[in-house]
Amino acid sequence: MKILVAVKRLIDYNVKIRVKPDNTGVETANVKMSMNPFDEIAVEEAVSLKEAGTVDEIIAVSLGPKASQETIRTALAMGCDRGIHVETDDELQPLAVAKLLKGIIEKESPDLVILGKQAIDDDSNQTGQMLSALLGWSQGTFASELELADGTANVTREVDGGLETIKINMPCVITTDLRLNVPRYASLPNIMKAKKKQIDVMSPGDLGVDTTPRLQTLKVTEPPKREAGAVLESVAELVDKLKNEAKVI
Ligand code: AMP
Repeated sequence: MKILVAVKRLIDYNVKIRVKPDNTGVETANVKMSMNPFDEIAVEEAVSLKEAGTVDEIIAVSLGPKASQETIRTALAMGCDRGIHVETDDELQPLAVAKLLKGIIEKESPDLVILGKQAIDDDSNQTGQMLSALLGWSQGTFASELELADGTANVTREVDGGLETIKINMPCVITTDLRLNVPRYASLPNIMKAKKKQIDVMSPGDLGVDTTPRLQTLKVTEPPKREAGAVLESVAELVDKLKNEAKVI
């Protein structure tokens, strides 16, 4: 069995985001970049399945500028076997990403594709769903448990009311939720070994995909600053403020 995982390079989740002064986006220059946390979970799931003997090969795919290869190397150090980088400096929106992934999937024919449920920079939560529609494959989104058996996948999904378990046919698209697993850290020997693993590089043109954005960002602004709190002397004072200042009771 072959698995393809999609790994996106974006601003590290610990970094305090700064909006550009001209409101066209956020600062990415000299900012620490990492793998999207939900994609780390996707890689971990694929590697655990391989360790359990269910999977023979894992391909890590990233789309974006040259530096995306660092993210692929991290996936290789965590246990993926080889990488594919679709190199472009252009902005990629979810539909373009889904079309590019479809192009790779048609060449590689994996049995399972695992993506994060959302990228923490655009918070789109669209790519996995669009990809499964373009492929005409089943989808198991927001997965918190995954079991493979006899050409089907049992996926436990985190839904508003609790947990929903569905059985879908493979090949299929899975998107990961936070509780699926705890991703491993790559060990130093594995980081060294990953340097020798193969990464194929291609362009969107090689896959025949037009990546022109369909949506235009009008502006990006910071959330309003929180005002300082106040320490009150008594419950009576709190009630008075809630009634007369905040006007909530
Ligand atoms: P989104 O729909 O943008 O929230 O992204 C959902 C998931 O799609 C991410 O967690 C990744 O697995 C995948 N993805 C999105 N953009 C890229 C990219 N540029 N390269 C690789 N994977 C991506």
